[in-house]
Amino acid sequence: MVRAHPGPRMGLPGDRSANRPMSADGSGATMPAAVLTGPAAIEVQQLPVPDPGPDDVLVEVGWCGICGTDLHLALEGYGRPGTVLGHEWAGTVVALGRDVTGIELGTTIVADDIRPCGTCRPCRRGRPAVCVRRPPPDHLSFRGAFARYVLVERARVLPVPVALDPRAAALTEPVAIALHAMHVADATEPGLRILVTGAGPVGLLMVAVLAAHGVTDVTVSEPAPARRTRAAQLGARVVEPDDLPAAPMGRPVPEPFDLAYECSGHARAAGQALDQLDAAGTLVFVGTGREQPRVNHNRMIILELTALGTYNYDAAGFAPALTLLASGRLPLDLLIEPDDVPLADVLPTMHRLAAGQLAGKVMVRPR
Ligand SMILES: [Zn+2]
Ligand SMILES: [Zn+2]
Repeated sequence: MVRAHPGPRMGLPGDRSANRPMSADGSGATMPAAVLTGPAAIEVQQLPVPDPGPDDVLVEVGWCGICGTDLHLALEGYGRPGTVLGHEWAGTVVALGRDVTGIELGTTIVADDIRPCGTCRPCRRGRPAVCVRRPPPDHLSFRGAFARYVLVERARVLPVPVALDPRAAALTEPVAIALHAMHVADATEPGLRILVTGAGPVGLLMVAVLAAHGVTDVTVSEPAPARRTRAAQLGARVVEPDDLPAAPMGRPVPEPFDLAYECSGHARAAGQALDQLDAAGTLVFVGTGREQPRVNHNRMIILELTALGTYNYDAAGFAPALTLLASGRLPLDLLIEPDDVPLADVLPTMHRLAAGQLAGKVMVRPR
């Protein structure tokens, strides 16, 4: 027996194929969605509410965070017109596909990634985030959660722990990214000096996730004053990029770092981060960007530097991120901006994020 759920009109309990939002005359309902209509152009349009297939659940989006990827796709024009962006969401199950079991209407959920196979070459090399047996991600065109409803396969559903505020649960995906970035570079090894370039939502989460694991020797380089302030509140030492020393040829800078996380996506920051590394240091690319950095290969050779990329999540997916969020060890008030925005404000908020005016994660509230 399905549980009644407030909100959109549902089919009869037990009749799960009809168990989805309906218009008054019984035809398919529509929902508001922030649709990408061209480069740096987003319009709130009415789209049909998606129809769950046999193995899908329909979710009413509670909150959806704006990600750096959304900024690149929308503001830099990579996304295809017609795309609905937004992948960092938490919401409530409002309809179940015919064959769905083990999840109740009204449950607050997030949607994990498909599990890595564990046997392909990247999986065997300990890099499950790039398992080749998963369907290739479509980075340019997808139906996301800057909309009232989103459809997700039952296999990807993870219930949100009751102890966790559903709004904070919308931070699960980027927390999973930060955890993976931490593990990929063994950042919890004692005694490491760590540099983070960029104190936007990704850089701040990196600092907070490291701190929650006892890694506190972290310096943040960030040009925007508001973002520097926030990084300092999280316990990091802060510097302006111009204050970082120029690299002497063939030798480390005076107080070098063992590990640098490039979270800004800016080419200059990547070059600077590489310059600040100690011999045998590692640069980790976390933030994507349009302009490609120039790499000083001579420096990489002489100091035996490593550069690596980190993509998506550990093999365990979202579960450890949900646990960490529910533990209360992350200062959520510093990581999430206090004011949620409606769908109509997605584009202006993206511009403010790109300009560095907002430090933390901004949550879109589609209803
Ligand atoms: Zn994201
Ligand atoms: Zn695999």
